[in-house]
Order: sequence, then C-alpha cells, then structure tokens
Amino acid sequence: MSEPAPDRTHRRPATIAVTAGRPAHEPDQPLNAPITMASTYVATGDLEYGRYGNPTWAAFEEALGALEGGRALAFASGMAAATTVLDLVGLGGGVVAPRHAYSGTVMALADLEMRERLHATLVDIADTDAVIAAMQADEDCALLWIESPTNPALELADIPALAAAAHELGIRVVVDNTFATPLRQQPLSLGADIVVHSATKYIAGHSDVQLGAIVVDDEEVLSALKGRRDLVGAIPGPFETWLALRGLRTLHVRLDRAEANAAELARRLADHPAIEEVRYPGFGAIVAPVLKGGGPAADLLAHDVRLWVHATSLGGVESTLERRRRWKAEAATIPEGLVRLSVGIEDVEDLWDDLDQALAGIAPVRA
Ligand SMILES: *Cc1c(COP(=O)(O)O)cnc(C)c1O
Repeated sequence: MSEPAPDRTHRRPATIAVTAGRPAHEPDQPLNAPITMASTYVATGDLEYGRYGNPTWAAFEEALGALEGGRALAFASGMAAATTVLDLVGLGGGVVAPRHAYSGTVMALADLEMRERLHATLVDIADTDAVIAAMQADEDCALLWIESPTNPALELADIPALAAAAHELGIRVVVDNTFATPLRQQPLSLGADIVVHSATKYIAGHSDVQLGAIVVDDEEVLSALKGRRDLVGAIPGPFETWLALRGLRTLHVRLDRAEANAAELARRLADHPAIEEVRYPGFGAIVAPVLKGGGPAADLLAHDVRLWVHATSLGGVESTLERRRRWKAEAATIPEGLVRLSVGIEDVEDLWDDLDQALAGIAPVRA
C-alpha cells in the first residue's frame, strides 16, 4: 500500500499572502494588479460602473478571501464594513456584542439603538455562559457580534462554543478579526458566518491607508452585503486598495516580528515596579499594561516616550501607544491607567530602552 501523494497545490498562509490576487503568469502581464482608476467601463460586461466593481478591489478581495477561507468585499473603512453588517439586522432586531468591543462599534450600536433601528445587549465576551444567556434572553436577537481579542482589554472569546450556541438559536455570528488577522485566527473555520476587518490596521500595516473588508463563505450573504455596498457606496479608492494589497504581501513577516517583540515586552513589563498588570493574550502584537499610578502615570508615559509615538490606531510597522481612557467614548470599565501598546517591527531593545526610560520618570507618581 502506498501513501497518498502529497497535495503540492495546497498553499500555506505565507505563500497565499504573497501569491493570491496576482495577474496570470503570462508574457507581458504585470506581476502586480494595476491601480485601475475608472468611474465607468465599456458597457455589457460584468463591471459597468465604478461603484459596482473595480479590478484593484477584486485583486485585494481575492487575496484576503484566500487567507480567511471565504469571499471578501472591500469597504471604505473598517466602520463602513461593520455598519454594513449591522444593516443586515432587521428593524427591531437584537444584537449581542462585547461591552469592550472597539469603541466605534459600540458607538454605532448605541446610535442605531437611539434611532430605534435595533437594540443591543453588551456582554463580557469572555464569559461564554453569560453571552449564551443574553442571546437566549432576547427572542429578537439576530446577530452575535464577537471581537476577539477585544480592543483594548484583550479578552478572548470561545468562538466555536459561541457560534454553535448562536446557530442553535438561529442567530448569525460575526467576528471582528482585526487584532488576530487571518494568520492567527480564521473565524469562518471556527463556525462564524461573517468576518469583519479594519484593514487600516495590520493588513495594510503602514499607517497610511484607511480600508475595511468583510469575508463570508455563503453566496447569499455575500450578495446581500455587496448589494448594500452598491447602494450605500461605502467603496474604497483604488489607490487605497492597492496600498492595502501591497501591505498584505508582507503581513506574515511583519506580524511574526511584531509579535515576537510584543511577547518580549510583555514579559519585561510584567516585572516592572510601575506596572500593576500586563494584558497580553499570548499572540498578536498588542500589549496593554495597566500602570499603578493610574491615568496620570499613563499620561506621563505617553508624554515621555521618544521612539514610541503617542497616537491612536494600531497595526503599523512603527510602535505607537495611547491611554485609551483619554477618549470619552471608551468604556468606563477599562482601567484609567491602561496603555495600549501597538508594537511595531523595530529592534526590541530600542523599544524597551525607550519604555524603560519613560517608566523610570513616573515612578514618583505612584509614591
Ligand atoms: C480600528 C478598528 C475598527 C474600525 O476601523 P476603521 O478602519 O478605523 O474604520 C474596527 N474594529 C477594530 C477592532 C479596530 O481596531
């Protein structure tokens, strides 16, 4: 009996990141999908008009879809993607969502609730029993919104258990996969129906582009979401999409390096006398230390760093940090002294030296 021949057409994620969404290997084809600037196309084809389709979007969508194991749609921003998914909830429907989801998502839910479009129940997404109870308690619940890890508390959800319970109740499951990226977590394979991305973050990866995406594995949901994109017009620019695809080509290399840096910094910070607690889920490149000196100490840290940039957003090659509670919209259950570190791909010793010098200056605050 001979072993079955190995499947040499099966490609691994790093290879998919580099190869998917390229023009065919034919003479005179460019290696990269060109930036197609077009508001209209010669009639009777598949595209017709710029709001309905674009070859540069298609290249990005093919690459991201291949990485997530589904079909992707590009959007103008992560929030354009997120609110398009929320649009699937019928009038008066319910959404169960993490109380520590991205603050923009929580604000969008509050806005829709205020306008009586839907109602939202916010839960601790790490407490599986509580999430299931919240879904059971709302007979109009139509959507379970998962973010894992959450931004910025870094809690983890049990996606397979939650998806199974939701499906039993006829509830659709969406996962915001921005923090994990498809290289660390593929929600469709864990039972989710819809994946949402802020491609602004790790996928584009260079803090120079705003883009979002949705990935699904069901044709009907895909066409419903594309229908919303066609009508609302939350479409990305071809240049932005091209930049995001260019970023995606190196996602695996950037993430490996940033993650190794993050793990090392999380270890060192845990031993620092100015730090109360370090939140790090064990993968990814976001680390959230909570300072003993609370808000004032966290503000001083943001002020005293020189290599780290005090800035919101995350997922770029450069290391940034911010005290999340400086935003009024951030959940009151996030500690005042929590600083979200978006660890970049610099030399980890330089990153540590800078944090260490800034932390040395704030030790007196806690005395
Ligand atoms: C930034 C972010 C978003 C929103 O994405 P934009 O591209 O800024 O619209 C959504 N979810 C998470 C987890 C984010 O970090």
